[in-house]
Amino acid sequence: MKFRAGLGYDIHRLEAGRKLFLGGLEIPFPKGLHGHSDGDCLIHSMIDALLGAMGEGDIGQLFPDSEEKYKDIRSTELLKEVMARLDAKGMEIVNVDTVIVAEEPRLSPYILRMKELLSALLRVDKNNLGIKAKTNEGIGLIGEGKAIACWALVILGKREKKRGKKA
Ligand code: MG
Repeated sequence: MKFRAGLGYDIHRLEAGRKLFLGGLEIPFPKGLHGHSDGDCLIHSMIDALLGAMGEGDIGQLFPDSEEKYKDIRSTELLKEVMARLDAKGMEIVNVDTVIVAEEPRLSPYILRMKELLSALLRVDKNNLGIKAKTNEGIGLIGEGKAIACWALVILGKREKKRGKKA
């Protein structure tokens, strides 16, 4: 086994009166993503891609929304737990690519900060983390601004062993 690929998808409804968390950032907007956790569907899609590549089920199995301890939890905390599992398997991320589909807010001013925050959590160079935002061209529920959806693709490799000291 040299490389493993994983694919993740998530969609959350936008609701008035909730804070909007996306890509680990709090983004000023009158609506936020509905969810048991903070609703950060970009991180949720990354988590599902990571778990898929690791052969470990999905986010709902690992962090059930029936559990009170995950109520309103920041998704960055869930991602940290998944990265600890990845470490324990002796694996590391080669690269991640993602797409956010959101009619609003306009996300381009936040992409660089998302990359800085998430590349540190994922332990990859910023050049190995793609975050692309697009609208749904006004089509369907996403186009009407009722939901935000995200896709993530991840490639994992075996962690390289550190070189021993020369004799
Ligand atoms: Mg979700």
